[in-house]
Amino acid sequence: MGTLYEDIIDCGGEIFGEEHLATLRECVQCGKCTGGCPSGRNTALRTRKLMQMALLDMREEIFNSPELWFCSTCYTCYERCPKGVKVTDVIRTIRNLAAKEGHMSVPHRMIGVYVMKTGHAVPIGPDQMKLREAVGLDSQPPTAQKHKDQLEQVQAIFKATHYDAMIDFDWGTMTLKGMDKGGKK
Ligand code: SF4
Ligand code: SF4
Repeated sequence: MGTLYEDIIDCGGEIFGEEHLATLRECVQCGKCTGGCPSGRNTALRTRKLMQMALLDMREEIFNSPELWFCSTCYTCYERCPKGVKVTDVIRTIRNLAAKEGHMSVPHRMIGVYVMKTGHAVPIGPDQMKLREAVGLDSQPPTAQKHKDQLEQVQAIFKATHYDAMIDFDWGTMTLKGMDKGGKK
């Protein structure tokens, strides 16, 4: 394990390219990312602060920050940064590192539960099924939610990549370990 900056380059470099993420070192703490962040208007997310914490090697603090998970990955900061810091992709990489060390937020883990159970991050619900029937369609489109064999393929990917273990998924209850079906303890 290197510094957090080095780990961001190593981990995210495989996906985005090392130079892409190395733009983090150009951050001058101007705050333009925070100023345009739609999520930051309604939450404690302060994008500039996340960049500062990453550069100051505040690994434990940033991995344990709930605000790390408040980013909606809208890429506004990415477009606004005057120094060309690839802010959103830095945040996504920090999340990947945090998740590998068991720090993924419960709402994000619950999205994994939906995918595990239905094949979709946003599964179709009873109201949508009724609407579909009202206009003469099958209640469900031909996706993994309807076809068990396809859902099993999705679940096989999760098992092969150990994503189930990463989010602490319980195959017996089909939700997170220690939680009820609504994701509550
Ligand atoms: S806009 Fe760019 S340079 Fe300014 S604080 Fe955010 S990441 Fe740093
Ligand atoms: S990508 Fe995330 S941090 Fe950047 S502006 Fe959008 S919500 Fe804010």
